[in-house]
Amino acid sequence: MNKVVKNLGLYLVLVLVVVSMVNSYLTPEEVQKQYDEISYSQFLKELDAGRIKILQIRNNTVPGESSSAVIQGELADGQRFLTYRLDVSGLADRAAAKGVTVTVEAPQRNSWVMTLLTSLFPTLLLIGVWVYFMNSMQGGGGPSRLMSFGRSKAKLFLDNKPKIKFDAVAGCDEAKEELQEVIHFLKDPEKFKKLGAKVPKGVLLVGPPGTGKTLLARAAAGEADVPFFCTSGSEFVEMLVGVGAARVRDLFAQAKKYQPCIIFIDEIDAVGRHRGAGLGGGHDEREQTLNQILVELDGFDDNSNTVLIAATNRPDILDPALLRPGRFDRHIVVDRPDVKGREEILKVHMKEKQFADDVDVSVLARSTPGLVGADIENLVNEGALLAARKDKEKITMEDLEEGIERVMAGPERKSRIINDHEKKIIAYHETGHAIVAKILPGADPVHKISIIPRGHAALGYTLQLPEEDRFLISKSELMNRISILLSGRVSEEIVFNDVTSGAANDLEKATETARQMVTQLGMSDALGLVKLGKKREEIFLGRDISEDRNYSEEVAYAIDKEVKKIIDDCYERSKEILTEHRALLDKIAGVLLEREVIDAEELDKLMHEDDLPAVRQDGR
Ligand code: ADP
Ligand code: MG
Ligand code: ZN
Repeated sequence: MNKVVKNLGLYLVLVLVVVSMVNSYLTPEEVQKQYDEISYSQFLKELDAGRIKILQIRNNTVPGESSSAVIQGELADGQRFLTYRLDVSGLADRAAAKGVTVTVEAPQRNSWVMTLLTSLFPTLLLIGVWVYFMNSMQGGGGPSRLMSFGRSKAKLFLDNKPKIKFDAVAGCDEAKEELQEVIHFLKDPEKFKKLGAKVPKGVLLVGPPGTGKTLLARAAAGEADVPFFCTSGSEFVEMLVGVGAARVRDLFAQAKKYQPCIIFIDEIDAVGRHRGAGLGGGHDEREQTLNQILVELDGFDDNSNTVLIAATNRPDILDPALLRPGRFDRHIVVDRPDVKGREEILKVHMKEKQFADDVDVSVLARSTPGLVGADIENLVNEGALLAARKDKEKITMEDLEEGIERVMAGPERKSRIINDHEKKIIAYHETGHAIVAKILPGADPVHKISIIPRGHAALGYTLQLPEEDRFLISKSELMNRISILLSGRVSEEIVFNDVTSGAANDLEKATETARQMVTQLGMSDALGLVKLGKKREEIFLGRDISEDRNYSEEVAYAIDKEVKKIIDDCYERSKEILTEHRALLDKIAGVLLEREVIDAEELDKLMHEDDLPAVRQDGR
């Protein structure tokens, strides 16, 4: 279906609609304009009275549908009339007998073309709608989608092989190292074959979202300078059974023509999920697609120079058959970047922008724990946008720090109106968090306290940033975390003798942490070193939604008791600290109310009983 035909079809449909509308509406209306409508009984009266001069009987019957005959004519005084009657048999004779000039019009027949079209119209419309949806379901675009269901939609970077190289991907040196082997192979397959070396056919990139898996795969193709077939697992998931498998077949067949090359399947978990876990029993569509991928992987013989790279952030839900040796046997972990990695990623994304001299990349890297490459790209961009909004020539450290906070907590929402009383409660709540975090040993340093609302939920926040990336965490540190989480609520309680709903999120996190300590980390004396509960895979969402209880009622009771005990202990701890430092609490909350934001340095001063200068340089 090319464009012309498509447009022609559209016009045809339009004409059809207009014609059928004219056909059904115009005629009676037009008729009614010229004639007076009278009742049939009155018509009979007029007929009997001999007042009718001319009579025309028209049968208005549409094929397949009985409708009334139209009787129209002229009265003796020249008045034209019109009436309807279902059955007109005998009427003509009766009128003729009265001396009326009677004409009977042949039943009006629609031309056969019209008939055909009107009866086909609904069907055509349905087909049209179906085609439209099929097209849009496949992402629209190309006109010949309907005919190419089984064709793979992999985007081929042939002439323009990916230009990006490994230097665009920062901070995952191990992953690059691992891919290097594949690249060497693709560059010179013969060398490997001569030595009889087996090269991995399938490489699986595993890591959290935004860590640069997709980027890495493209860079690998760029480095090897080979064609790159890029597709995504979800593109194989279609409504029609068999389509996904056909697409896989087509993809590999195409790739074969261009080898050596890389096939990349992004988000492979969309098709690679555990078989037999879905709804449709053993034969659902996804399963067929997965089987086809396995078949193709096995079909890579020693002569094939194709490497399949796939990416996922859910390796745990992948079908074990995919991970078996000989298939995706090489797993490359692309993890969240550490401080050094973040610094490098920052540098990559800061390359083509203008920065003021005060920008310190290592400080930025240290204040972004937990952020991945995509977040970092986002943060630099936010900083640039902020600088542009303020008409600055260069992006400053301040812009970037605001960028970090935006990425971590959402944009400031100064427009949200908070009344003075609420503001006071929020100030005490946040100050409570900050003081306890300051006093408890080993807690992450407080970076900033703010009572400017951010994002969609936070009314205020206390930002703690770890000094370094942590991989292990001790029981006492976890207890400290819970105490800090509870301290907002404790502060409200001590100061106002009442509590608010503002601590809901804190309580949830605290309870969650305590529960994990008891059930997963073996940190409770009463229950000991057992892992309790088993995560159950939610098959439709691929998420852990529920937990299977593999323990008794009694143990469940004991868990709840332990969780409560931990929370209570931490609560007491918090309360002790804040009661003891009540004066400090009042003082800092007062400053916070006034300034809305307190940074780490200022907090240090306040904690050491110093007073702050009345007005800061920036006038806040
Ligand atoms: P994933 O596929 O792992 O979810 P992407 O590769 O799509 O992540 O990353 C999204 C974007 O984030 C990339 O386009 C890139 O700009 C940026 N990014 C992510 N990781 C890195 C990295 N290690 N180095 C440089 N940029 C990165
Ligand atoms: Mg990706
Ligand atoms: Zn809080």
